[in-house]
Amino acid sequence: MGALKSVKMPADWSVETVLPIAFEGRELTLEAHAFQGDTAEEQVLVLIHRAPDMAKGTLPVVRIHSGCVTGDIFHSLRCDCYQQLQAALKVITASAFGAIVYVPYHEGRGIGLFKKIQAYALQDQGQDTIEANISVGAPVDSRDYDLSARALIDLGMGEIKLLSNNPAKEAALKAKGIRIAERVSIVVPPNKFNKRYLETKRSRMSHKI
Ligand SMILES: [Zn+2]
Repeated sequence: MGALKSVKMPADWSVETVLPIAFEGRELTLEAHAFQGDTAEEQVLVLIHRAPDMAKGTLPVVRIHSGCVTGDIFHSLRCDCYQQLQAALKVITASAFGAIVYVPYHEGRGIGLFKKIQAYALQDQGQDTIEANISVGAPVDSRDYDLSARALIDLGMGEIKLLSNNPAKEAALKAKGIRIAERVSIVVPPNKFNKRYLETKRSRMSHKI
C-alpha cells in the first residue's frame, strides 16, 4: 500500500481480496478493496479492473458511485442510479485500467434511506428533489468524498479520468487532492418516472446531462 497523503489511518483501515462477478454474460474477476473511515458507517468498496497487458502509466477511468438501495438493487425507475452503475461498469471493464468506488453511506445523496423515502413521498405531492430534501430537514447534498479520495490515493490512483456528469463531484475530489485529467460523461436516457429528477439535476444542480 502506498503512503497516505495527509491523514494517518490505522493499519487495518484497508483490506483486499478478489471478486468474481457476472457482467453481461461474462465472468470477470475484479480486485476488491474495502476501506474503513473514521465512523462505523463510513466505508467504501473499490472494485478495480486491470488488463494484464496494461501499459505502464495508464490513467484509471474511475466512477465514484453513491449507493442507492432502491436503484442499484431493485432497479427503481425514480432515479438513474442503476443505469449509471451499469454504464460505468461497461466502460470500466472495457478499459485497460478502471475502478468503481462504491459508497454505501451516500444513500439518498447522503441523507440515508429513511429520509430519502420520506422525500420521495413529498415529491409525490409535487415537490422537486431539492425542495423535498429541504422539507425533510436534510441538506440538498451531504455527500463527502474524503474517504473516497483517501482510498484512491492509497491505491496509487491520485490522477484519474472521472466518469461523472457532476461538476460538484469533480470539484470536491480536486479539493481532496485528486487530479482529474479528464471528466467523461455518462449518458442514460430518461424514463417517464425520472424525467423530473433528471431535469432538476440539470437545471438546479448544474449536472452536464
Ligand atoms: Zn438512485
